[in-house]
Amino acid sequence: MNNKNTLEFATQLDKEDQLSSYRNEFHIPRDEEGNELIYLCGNSLGLQPKRTKAYLDQELSDWARWGVEGHFHAKNPWMPYHEFLSEGYSKIVGAKKSEVVAMNSLTVNLHLMMVSFYRPHAKRHKIVIEADAFPSDIYAVNSQIIHHGYDPTNSLIKLKARAGETAIRAEDIAQIISEEGDEIALIMLGGVNYYTGQVFDFETITNLAHQKGILVGFDLAHAAGNIKLELHKWNVDFAVWCSYKYLNSGPGSVAGAFVHEKHHKSNLPRFAGWWGHNKENRFKMPDDFDPITSAEGWQLSNPPILSLAAIRASLSIFDEVGMDRLVEKSKKLSDYLIFLLQTIQTDKINIITPKEKGCQISIQVKNGNKKLFDNITKKGVIADWREPDVIRIAPVPLYNRFTDVYKFYKILESVL
Ligand SMILES: *Cc1c(COP(=O)(O)O)cnc(C)c1O
Repeated sequence: MNNKNTLEFATQLDKEDQLSSYRNEFHIPRDEEGNELIYLCGNSLGLQPKRTKAYLDQELSDWARWGVEGHFHAKNPWMPYHEFLSEGYSKIVGAKKSEVVAMNSLTVNLHLMMVSFYRPHAKRHKIVIEADAFPSDIYAVNSQIIHHGYDPTNSLIKLKARAGETAIRAEDIAQIISEEGDEIALIMLGGVNYYTGQVFDFETITNLAHQKGILVGFDLAHAAGNIKLELHKWNVDFAVWCSYKYLNSGPGSVAGAFVHEKHHKSNLPRFAGWWGHNKENRFKMPDDFDPITSAEGWQLSNPPILSLAAIRASLSIFDEVGMDRLVEKSKKLSDYLIFLLQTIQTDKINIITPKEKGCQISIQVKNGNKKLFDNITKKGVIADWREPDVIRIAPVPLYNRFTDVYKFYKILESVL
């Protein structure tokens, strides 16, 4: 297809878009005059589905009507409520229902997973992570290393792009695994790097790592609901994600975790809580912890139902659309954005996102500063600025249009 940088062409793409009606399923933020903003920030906080309110209202009214009895008598009983999300989450990450669970927040889940999957000893104590990983992930792995009595200076390997490049090369990851593999306990990467938008080759990395006896986990904060995932098939050991970015489930909403089924019956150490205990006799309140033999066995607490209700609402949209159709449109949208950006002079911007990408495109503005970004914001674009000079743009296939991308491009061009 020959793209064109005209509004007519973008409008035509919107007309041909089979998912275009889904935009109307979302509340689009507006400026003070009531005009819709160009919202390209779904990588940070996804928009609110209109149907979310009804899902929350249901639980509020059942709480009003039933009190504690709602655990059993609510229309959607709260006792097993988290199980209502298993199918939706399993489709998002490509897992069996038993391999996923909605619980806690992302960083908490990352720690809980590392309790089980980071078991360092003198000969094998290293963790591999991207050098430009999300700070919370760096804090988490550092503190785990220290918790076990090791020193991040020796025990944390940070994957870097080569000088002059922005993406991490697959062969460089392979080389580290081959050279230092015997000392590496865990590889923990952002499946989609939050800064560059680079998508890693989950399957190859996992295979190479397993050959060396290394466990592999992924942080899917920027991957869940963005790219097609097959965690079970790829044999990934564990993964964690949040639900408020591409999964549109509301600020700080409950996160998710994946534990591959091969680990469900193992006697990996874990931090335990009553909600991870065998459901048959949980309420007999036994002293001995008997974990559920699924990802649910990693739960600690009874979950916040209002937050889970928002996730259910959102997952129902993903279920209607399906990841295949979503990814198909996502690719067209982000490819169109790249096409438009490539018409801008290369001394002004540099696209740092490699071709292995989801919907996010990271644009480095040369000689640019936060002021330039503020000007874009003033013109009605909601995007995201990362110091020192990167604008992250996420055209989200569920609610963004080709014309959003086009309008952003015109605004960017005008301020450069
Ligand atoms: C958004 C994000 C987080 C946020 O962590 P919370 O525990 O949800 O606050 C962590 N890691 C990555 C990679 C992220 O993109």
